[in-house]
Amino acid sequence: MYYSTNSPDTIVALATASGKGAIAVVRLSGPEAINITNKIFHGKNLDQQSSHTLHFGTIRDNGRVLDEVVVSLFKAPHSYTKENVVEISCHGSDYIVEQIIRLTLQHGARLAQAGEFTKRAFLNGQLDLAQAEAVADLIASDSRLSHEVAMKQMRGGFSQEIKNLRAQLIHFASMIELELDFSEEDVEFADRSALQNLIYNIQKLIRDLLKSFEFGNVIKHGVPVVIVGKPNAGKSTLLNVLLNEEKAIVSDVAGTTRDFIEDEISIEGISFRFIDTAGLRETTDKVEAIGVERTLKKVEEASLVIYLFDIATTSSQELDQEIKALALDENTALLAVANKIDTVGSASLEAYHAIADTIAISASEKEGIETLKQNLLEKVRGNQLDTSDQTIVTNLRHYENLQQTYTALDDVLTGISSGISSDFLAADIRRALYALGQITGEITTDDLLDNIFSKFCIGK
Ligand code: GDP
Repeated sequence: MYYSTNSPDTIVALATASGKGAIAVVRLSGPEAINITNKIFHGKNLDQQSSHTLHFGTIRDNGRVLDEVVVSLFKAPHSYTKENVVEISCHGSDYIVEQIIRLTLQHGARLAQAGEFTKRAFLNGQLDLAQAEAVADLIASDSRLSHEVAMKQMRGGFSQEIKNLRAQLIHFASMIELELDFSEEDVEFADRSALQNLIYNIQKLIRDLLKSFEFGNVIKHGVPVVIVGKPNAGKSTLLNVLLNEEKAIVSDVAGTTRDFIEDEISIEGISFRFIDTAGLRETTDKVEAIGVERTLKKVEEASLVIYLFDIATTSSQELDQEIKALALDENTALLAVANKIDTVGSASLEAYHAIADTIAISASEKEGIETLKQNLLEKVRGNQLDTSDQTIVTNLRHYENLQQTYTALDDVLTGISSGISSDFLAADIRRALYALGQITGEITTDDLLDNIFSKFCIGK
């Protein structure tokens, strides 16, 4: 589907992060992008240059040289937005950037709204809606897996899956609509049991996608983990071992230095976020009596709980009581970790195992840490996910649309089995198609688009 943007405006914004950097990029998009740049750029006449070329020159404000720049030229429709696009690479000073933007405004550009470049890319058919959303996810990605999933979605992998589902439903709908055309004659073209099977198949595919969301969320936001246990169990020692070994790395805004994220580690591409570690990290020898209430609150926020205990002083009965006291809900994974194994030589874990999955470590001797990490990974992956070829839903909006599709299909099935007339079936199918079409943007409303793109930053 090809939309043309209602607004013929030419928009401008800083495309790189603000702040001092070697280079900053000011981007213009719209019918006048090249003409406006020509008025402030001294070098070649950009109008006469071919698309996808670079041009060195100066930006001048009434004859005063503001900066030496390189201009990249993309002529419609061969650009991100499918409009004329110019990217001015200047030196990364806030002052220069402000002045260049001011000059383009003077010559007829207007400031871009949040996400407006990507919105135009969508409206002009460059990307579908799910792909456009993946652009934001890709920019925000900070681990191998979050990058992998966003990249796959941006390149259309996820959209293809949704389009296949939609094509099957449209086939279904067309059979029903055919019946409606002949409704006077009371005929049934579509074999009801074949229809049922088709819906079952589609629902199975949707169930897999819905199920992937839990993991998708983990990929995108990391796994909230909490370490709990009695004072002196070794919680802070363990936390320090984990954090010192494998801190998650994130690059800072300007992309020049790399910082560690506090209290987060990355194991095989999945981020684990340790909750409320302040008390644990302050000191290793102070006995911390964290109130019961506070512990329970921490546990509530976590989706993975490490219950750490001193194997020399904790009986399996005690472990049982302690874990029961945590009152974990069914969505919270639990790993019991027997610490200080160095003080008891070898110990049997069988009795503990009967209560919860248990592994033995020595935090201070750094023994069993690798096993602990593998166990954490397994708890998260729940042994069913191979990310390489599975489509993973990471976006709440997509998840909700898929749920709506599923519910509508349930109604279709109920309708078929109770023998309702084809016009009611058709209405339920249209509802399913509507929800599905919103994911990739075959069906959109202004509100929906505003909602999605306003979450982008200006310049994207
Ligand atoms: P927390 O109160 O649970 O945070 O426990 P700490 O991490 O402060 O540890 C309490 C004490 O146990 C400290 O003296 C640690 O050095 C010691 N400790 C921690 N882990 C081990 C271990 O694996 N083996 C031994 N022998 N001592 C440990």
